[in-house]
Amino acid sequence: MGFSTDAIHIGQEADPATGAIIVPIYQTSTYVQTELGKNKGYEYSRTGNPTRAALERNIAALEGGTRGLAFASGMAAVHAVMSLLKAGDHVIAGRNLYGGTFRLFELVLKDYGLNFTYTDTRRADEVERALGSRTRLVFIETPTNPVMEITDIAAVAEIAHARGVLVAVDNTFSSPYFQRPIELGADIVVHSTTKYLNGHSDGVGGAVILKDPELARRIQFFQNAAGAVLSPFDSWLVLRGVKTLAVRMRQHDLNGRAVAQHLASHPKVKGVHYPGLPSHPQHELARRQMSGFGGMLSFETGSLENARILLKSVQLCSLAESLGGVESLISHPASMTHASVPAEERRRLGITDGLVRVSTGVEDVEDIIADLDRALDRIPA
Ligand SMILES: *Cc1c(COP(=O)(O)O)cnc(C)c1O
Repeated sequence: MGFSTDAIHIGQEADPATGAIIVPIYQTSTYVQTELGKNKGYEYSRTGNPTRAALERNIAALEGGTRGLAFASGMAAVHAVMSLLKAGDHVIAGRNLYGGTFRLFELVLKDYGLNFTYTDTRRADEVERALGSRTRLVFIETPTNPVMEITDIAAVAEIAHARGVLVAVDNTFSSPYFQRPIELGADIVVHSTTKYLNGHSDGVGGAVILKDPELARRIQFFQNAAGAVLSPFDSWLVLRGVKTLAVRMRQHDLNGRAVAQHLASHPKVKGVHYPGLPSHPQHELARRQMSGFGGMLSFETGSLENARILLKSVQLCSLAESLGGVESLISHPASMTHASVPAEERRRLGITDGLVRVSTGVEDVEDIIADLDRALDRIPA
């Protein structure tokens, strides 16, 4: 079946007890056993819950994996992936990771004996050069936040697999509607469901999707052992969000393209980062690897003062962290999401003080553009 049909139906058969068309919120901690050692597949809700199980089946199908596991946040999902490693193991990661992932690696997992090398994963030869005898995992994000660098997933997977190294892709920015890393060769997909999968800015969650049943069993073991599971209510919200993932993503993509094109020709904008623009240095790779470009983009206002004026002047776009919801959000990476990255490293990554990021929502695009135009008008020429 097609993507939308799967999104609406997989894991979501009518409730066997009542016929309810929507999977109920099984708000229960435990399950009555009919006799010793006999249950209906559920014993305790950390281990398994029917609402969470419905979501897990659903997202596994959307990503083309065999198994999905839902976590209390995107960070809990990333942490679960790292449970596959042991002290002494080496990880190659993108140089421009989500800040929380970098923090988990550097300020938590390093103390457990894991070693990290951060490379420009746009260049497969750099990934190859970073491989060592203890390398177990390559962890990438594509596109990256906020400058939208693209990594060739298939090329990295080929290099890693030749050395028996696993590849994990954080697919939060594209969602499985536009990019399916497992089909491109990745072993593991990670999501912050907080973003596009849930899509309505009303819950925090995460997911891991895998192809290999043995790796999935190990992550499920960790999920139960560490216990950072997604609650039944939050699982239900993501299930509801995912039903409209395809229509939302199509609109995010249309609006993202229109906003990016408009900004690219605006006299006060000094540059736009959006993989859907032919001027993006990796536009061809993006077209090959992704079936759409989505709503995330960033642009250069020229200075911190210009960014400040713009962010103070927008009315429809809300100044806030996070992304992927139906409402347009605008943010200042240098002082918000990337404040903990040293200034020199920020410059190297292209995260200037004048850079502004937009998570283009699904409002009428003329309204989004008019809002940005009004705010850009306030910047002195
Ligand atoms: C938000 C985000 C995360 C972390 O997810 P939380 O749900 O906030 O824990 C990880 N990766 C990316 C790319 C994100 O945008």
